[in-house]
Amino acid sequence: MSTIWVRFVWLLLAITLFVSLPISLFYGLNWGLAAAIVCLLLLLCWHLLHLHQLMGWLLASLNSPVPRGRGVWEIAFAELHRRVRIRQGQQQSLSETLEHFRRAIQALPDGVIAFDRHHRIDWLNERAETHFALSAATDRGQALTNLIRHPDFVSYLDSGRYTEPLIYRGGRVDGLTLMLQIIPYGDDQNLLVSRDISQIERTETMRRDFIANVSHELKTPLTVVAGFSEMLADGDEIYGMAEIKNYLKLIREQTVRMQRLIEDLLVLSSLESGGPAPHEERVELEPMLRSILADAQALSAGQHVITLSIEAPSALAGYANELRSAFSNLAGNAVRYTPAGGSIEMLWRVHQGIGEFVVTDTGIGIGAQHLPRLTERFYRVDRSRSRETGGTGLGLAIVKHVLTRHHATLEIESTPGKGSRFAARFPGRCLLN
Ligand code: ADP
Repeated sequence: MSTIWVRFVWLLLAITLFVSLPISLFYGLNWGLAAAIVCLLLLLCWHLLHLHQLMGWLLASLNSPVPRGRGVWEIAFAELHRRVRIRQGQQQSLSETLEHFRRAIQALPDGVIAFDRHHRIDWLNERAETHFALSAATDRGQALTNLIRHPDFVSYLDSGRYTEPLIYRGGRVDGLTLMLQIIPYGDDQNLLVSRDISQIERTETMRRDFIANVSHELKTPLTVVAGFSEMLADGDEIYGMAEIKNYLKLIREQTVRMQRLIEDLLVLSSLESGGPAPHEERVELEPMLRSILADAQALSAGQHVITLSIEAPSALAGYANELRSAFSNLAGNAVRYTPAGGSIEMLWRVHQGIGEFVVTDTGIGIGAQHLPRLTERFYRVDRSRSRETGGTGLGLAIVKHVLTRHHATLEIESTPGKGSRFAARFPGRCLLN
């Protein structure tokens, strides 16, 4: 500032000394004053010109360059230029921070919608677009209640009590369950945070179903055991030896059934917990399959024709106990679901680089509608038949888990009344020479 005043004083002195004084001396005081006025007018025009440039710059767009000037205006414009650069730097860093913040919000696994006191959407992230089938491009500025009309949500929004989250089902996206929470912040602003809990809910339903199934499976044999043991305890004199033996036989059968169920549950649980897998080993299939054939023949008690063919070198990289359990389940099922007189073929082959253990039977077969659910725990086509033949409803669930751990798949083809074909298919990398 002081520089400007110094320059101004110097200019006045210069005009007086070099223009007015010499002219006054030569032509008189009036001419000297007139010359001084002309100089000052010229100076005024010069300043007005720079002022015009400044006004033009102020009215132009923010990014237009600061005009250049001379004399005091050079100093003023340089200062303006410096401030503009600082402001641009601040804006740049502010927009970088905002962009950073925006990307962080977009990366959140939860949906976030910011809305004002009139419930109008300010902004929303991509996850919120997916959760509520909204579009940031078209729905910003719209009232939330126009877009999410579900009565549960509307009354939650209107209640003003947001300490508890709302479990929201039946929105525009099918099968999605969301946990919603409204968080007020700032000056009458709010955040609506949505979390997809569909998977947690499915797992919870599965857990409940599983407990209900296990309880149900144990209840029937336990009722039989409790009933007969009570009868025997209360009335041992009334029953003859034959009756007592028969009751004890029934008790034993039910106990074996419970034992089998618990064994299968333990196998399944150890497979599902994904606990430390035993070391992968070389599993020679031929002796294993021969022993499974013997077990199947024992189970069949001569009622079926059971054959085994091994068409290819038969060693797998895997876990012997698990593979034995899976293959035995497939062979056992074929025997149990094939009426007497039927036939069962077991086959090991390598076909187009894939190792296949195939069990084909001429049994009762399975309707197409059941096939996708067969490997679910406790899923049975015919509950009573499964029980009669000592099934636990867990066999194919175990098979599926074992095969998954071996990177293998299970293929099922079946025709009701004609028979079934179960194929466990192992990728080439599991095959050993
Ligand atoms: P289960 O112990 O009841 O046999 P699984 O999990 O082994 O349980 O099999 C599930 C269901 O699949 C069985 O209840 C049965 O209805 C059907 N199933 C399995 N294998 C066969 C087969 N070879 N032929 C016909 N039905 C079968």
